Amino acid sequence: MGGDKMGKRWLTLIWLCLLAVLGGAYNREEAAQAGAWEAGMPEQTKYVALTFDDGPQPETTERLLDGLRQRGASATFFLVGERAAACPELVRRMKAEGHQVGSHTWSHVRLQGANVQTILEETGRAQQLLTQILGEGSYWLRPPYGLLDEQERALLDVPLIKWSVDPRDWESRDTAKVVEAVMGTVQENSIVLLHDIYPTSVEAALQIIDMLTPQGYRFVTVEELLALNGVEPQAGTMYRTGTG
Ligand code: ZN
Repeated sequence: MGGDKMGKRWLTLIWLCLLAVLGGAYNREEAAQAGAWEAGMPEQTKYVALTFDDGPQPETTERLLDGLRQRGASATFFLVGERAAACPELVRRMKAEGHQVGSHTWSHVRLQGANVQTILEETGRAQQLLTQILGEGSYWLRPPYGLLDEQERALLDVPLIKWSVDPRDWESRDTAKVVEAVMGTVQENSIVLLHDIYPTSVEAALQIIDMLTPQGYRFVTVEELLALNGVEPQAGTMYRTGTG
């Protein structure tokens, strides 16, 4: 008799535990769904690449790197060689934190219309410096002003990266205007042009990330964006978006 009673008690206990576990699982799932609903989370992830030209610049670039790290966002930096030479530790930090580092020539000269020697010197010197700081690698080029003729492109042995969203942040130097311009035009696979030498642009970039994240956007490097779309980057070819 005693054994029978004990058995019943155990059964009741097991049954209660089961109910508690099932109830908990149900509530967790429900809560997660409600949370996603409240955040307006869409099913599909959209990828974009934020790119920053003309740096690095100690204070503004550091603030940007801190903000990107807090948000788990990656970006691409097209560095001016002579500026990178002055703060190699910032360049190393970019790479160590998962960002892509590229070149924006040695001294920010306009390559379009320049002679062959200037083109090769300006790109080669920046390339050499990045190799010195970061080691062997392919340091993609963003030509200053995004301009390069067909024959000039053929001189270069790395992929060339333009953009599809340009809020002209260098002109307005106004955080709200930059945010508005990007939010109005950004879409899946956009490459966004910004400059991390302006505090207003750094602030705008972080606000943009905070506004786009709940919409399902994730921030990756240009290299990652092309790879996600199955694009194999070719030397001397100019890319404007993640799909080409
Ligand atoms: Zn530039």
